[in-house]
Amino acid sequence: MNELLRKSAAEQSKALKNKEVSAVELTTAALNRIKSIDEKLGAFNSLTEETALETAKKVDEKIAKGEDLPLLAGIPLALKDNMNLVGSRTTASSKILENFVSPFNATISQKLLDNLVPILGKANLDEFAMGSSNENSAFKKVHNPWDLKKVPGGSSGGSAASVASCEVTLSLGSDTGGSIRLPASFCGIVGMKPTYGRVSRYGLIAFASSLDQIGPFARTVEDAANLLEVIAGHDPKDSTSLNLPVEHYADSLNNDIKGLRVGVIKELMSEGLSPDVQKAIEAAIDCYKKLGAEIVEISLPNLKHSIGIYYILATAECSSNLARFDGVRYGYRTPDAKNLLEMYTKSRAEGFGPEVKRRIMLGTYALSSGYYDAYYKKAQQMRALVTQDFVEAFKKADILVSPTCPNTAFELGAKSNDPLAMYLTDIATISANLAGIPGLSVPAGFDKDGMPIGLQILAPQLQEARLFNAAHKFERANDYYKKLANI
Ligand code: GLN
Repeated sequence: MNELLRKSAAEQSKALKNKEVSAVELTTAALNRIKSIDEKLGAFNSLTEETALETAKKVDEKIAKGEDLPLLAGIPLALKDNMNLVGSRTTASSKILENFVSPFNATISQKLLDNLVPILGKANLDEFAMGSSNENSAFKKVHNPWDLKKVPGGSSGGSAASVASCEVTLSLGSDTGGSIRLPASFCGIVGMKPTYGRVSRYGLIAFASSLDQIGPFARTVEDAANLLEVIAGHDPKDSTSLNLPVEHYADSLNNDIKGLRVGVIKELMSEGLSPDVQKAIEAAIDCYKKLGAEIVEISLPNLKHSIGIYYILATAECSSNLARFDGVRYGYRTPDAKNLLEMYTKSRAEGFGPEVKRRIMLGTYALSSGYYDAYYKKAQQMRALVTQDFVEAFKKADILVSPTCPNTAFELGAKSNDPLAMYLTDIATISANLAGIPGLSVPAGFDKDGMPIGLQILAPQLQEARLFNAAHKFERANDYYKKLANI
């Protein structure tokens, strides 16, 4: 059974259809694996066993009746614990929501349930998705399945670690500045951030609403493409969701990429890059050449400002989004307030962790009168310039490539006391959120210690099919994806 858990969703689907295994058996095996290894990993905040088995049962009934199965029916999946699923605890890994039980389904949860995808549990994350290492969870740290002393990347660290360790086959994460792509890269799997608006954010606990996007994790590009197809689409409950048809991305995976113009982002191939990462990315570029692609050098002159821009806009938006957690309506309320004001302030002081407080303070400052023009407004103007850089770049290239991160996973604790060093981890990923374009990380080799390296691929808005095609071709021309963490 553990062998089957290590297979892709495509292979597991076949096994289900051929009745080699039942969906209940597959789900039970995955739940058992979580129970036996998650103490070491810390990938799950809670399990949703009942929902999972109920869904699996429905899949088996359909199979017994000889009915067609929806895409990914019966494939074990984890949700990041900032996504609502009826009856589950949805904590955002924060003490302030520790006992919050979802009264409704996020749109993505509803879509998964409609497609009969068993949801096995809620994956650990950095508190409110703020972080790059998953050390900011209020409950426990997540460990990297390739080396338990190292971080899995964040903020969707539990989602990434659970797929990389074959606890589940698929998971969802959210990406505001790299939180899907970075942990995918650190954990040696595929992680994809769709175009802003491609997936509904309804029921996702908001961090920075103009940047947040939900996307898939999987061990193959094909599985990630299918999972995006299941969750994407217009949603009247999210006014920023795009009213455009969803493609069957799997159809374009094998398209020939001869003549595809692959742009190498100059600014991300120089300073600060670890030599092993540099070698792997150069090899990836060579691989594209061999596949018939045309390599061009691309400059994104404003990329160097992206972290600064992000830490003004994201913090400003989060200071507003997190105002709702005040002890009145949701979550934690201090037990010993003497009056209303104290109830607000103490609930927040006791409920939020240090990184969340830092962000709220930075954001409140950036929005305050007298500073708004100098910080928030300036950052918005700079965001437009970053977006324009991509418009220019995509005139010369069809996709852009770079490392997902200049380094591989670091040791737990290595950057905990240096927020700036932690923020710099996202140098390659943040600009895609500012511009709203899709991006993914695909395994591209290992460093000298055997830790995974990720290749980031970016495409113009709504060119998800092109992105998956380019990633799939690369994946299949190499065999990195076949190597799994030994845990
Ligand atoms: N690491 C970035 C941050 O800490 C991005 C997080 C995310 O994408 N959710 O804000």
